[in-house]
Amino acid sequence: GEVAVEVDTVVVGGGPGGYTAAIRLGQLGKSVVLIEKNQLGGVCLNRGCIPSKALIQMAEKFDELTHLKEMGVELPGKPASIDLHKWQKWKQEITTKLNTGIHQLCQQNGVTVVTGEAHFLSSHRVGVETGNAFDVYKFEHAIVATGSSPRSLPFAEVDHTYILDSTSALELTEVPRSLSIVGGGYIGMELGLAFAKLGSAVTIVEMSPHILPATAPHISREVLNKAEKLGVTIKSSTSVEHLTVNDGYVELIVQSNGEQETLQSEKALMTVGRSPNTKGLGLEQVGVFFNEDGTLPINEECRTNIDHIFAIGDVTEGPALAHKASKQGIVAAEVIGGLPSAIDSSYIPYVVFTDPQIAGVGLTAKQAQEQGHRVKTARFPFQANGLALVASKPDGFAEVIVDEESHLLLGFHIVGADASNLIGEGVLALELGARVEDVALTVHPHPTFSEGWLGAAEAALGHAIHVV
Ligand code: FAD
Repeated sequence: GEVAVEVDTVVVGGGPGGYTAAIRLGQLGKSVVLIEKNQLGGVCLNRGCIPSKALIQMAEKFDELTHLKEMGVELPGKPASIDLHKWQKWKQEITTKLNTGIHQLCQQNGVTVVTGEAHFLSSHRVGVETGNAFDVYKFEHAIVATGSSPRSLPFAEVDHTYILDSTSALELTEVPRSLSIVGGGYIGMELGLAFAKLGSAVTIVEMSPHILPATAPHISREVLNKAEKLGVTIKSSTSVEHLTVNDGYVELIVQSNGEQETLQSEKALMTVGRSPNTKGLGLEQVGVFFNEDGTLPINEECRTNIDHIFAIGDVTEGPALAHKASKQGIVAAEVIGGLPSAIDSSYIPYVVFTDPQIAGVGLTAKQAQEQGHRVKTARFPFQANGLALVASKPDGFAEVIVDEESHLLLGFHIVGADASNLIGEGVLALELGARVEDVALTVHPHPTFSEGWLGAAEAALGHAIHVV
């Protein structure tokens, strides 16, 4: 018969959800096996957050060269150029360094890392195909953290040469002369703006009336403006009907209001969402419930309907974000470790690394109204901020959503330079149950973008100093 290794917890998937859970379990003294079929760090480190931010950072620096001239800096010699081969090497060094760090942390915390593909054999056993062996682990608890994969359209199979997904787009070694992006959500917009800065002629096709359909139009408009300045063509309310690869280029037939149009580009990038990796894991046989979209329903302790099987990260409902995955990983580990722990999904911030960046936490004005609040919305434009001007990043604004009766802060929304870092103040304020006076009374350093929150809070109280 089979010989099974007995462990307290098996974690399937070594992304930001899984490896965080495994380390926390190790800290709590549990025996834990972390099974990863590919690379620790998951999508986030190897094909998502970090590689995409590496591209965006490089594109931004390249684009900023144009501002240097207006600031009085003359660059001698040839015009700047891009070598994506070198960029790939630079990016790889960073991801390798971070991957090594995760391995070290796992080792230091007593986590056994197993390389192989896991499959549930029963409600307490998992089998791992390692390539040269089939190992079985018997567990008390399991955490499903298998993440998600790019979705594709049935008529446009990704070939990674002409039809790309986000993974192959981040592996390019040459900037495409032209690029059609199908899907104007956050991944499509982040990559689209970056490639436009590097010189691609970018066209973005979005089915909804607005790009970034999950974001309020007054916020996404700032990104739309910048996209237009960069020469990006945006086709909203437009759907792709057909896509063919011809001799060396891609042809897309798109449709808007019944009118057909043909677009041609060197490459096409499909960013039409992601699907959870929950099929074929053997979870159906174990009796785990699925939502229609393949995600796994969980409670605030991250338990599935099967009490000892937990699910975290992109396989669960709600936003697919790395910091959500790692927070859920900590909660699941602590619950398994016998600690009181739960997740409150209402204060998970979202970030979009477009230009300008977008970030937010808590309720939008519309959501607050729907929940019965009398809402006060106040904004501070970065045009009125000294640092924003000297940094040549005057676009955007900071916005607070306040309950008019209690003055409790309900939401923070920001579009502008460094929004991803600035949202931290808003997350903390909501976690602490702050009122708008708490932000208005807090001394914010000058000159910084963080003064945007101060200005918005003062405006909410009707005594803004720097705006009328
Ligand atoms: P994943 O990171 O998907 O990891 C799951 C792991 O499980 C994978 O390594 C996979 O190999 C492994 N696995 C799957 N099945 C098995 C199996 N049967 N056996 C063993 N191992 C298995 N999020 C942000 O918060 N900020 C960003 O800026 C951001 N940018 C992004 C940019 C791009 C281009 C993309 C694609 C995503 C981005 N995300 C970003 C989303 C983020 O990457 C995900 O939310 C995050 O990686 C989810 O973590 P996870 O642990 O749930 O799963």
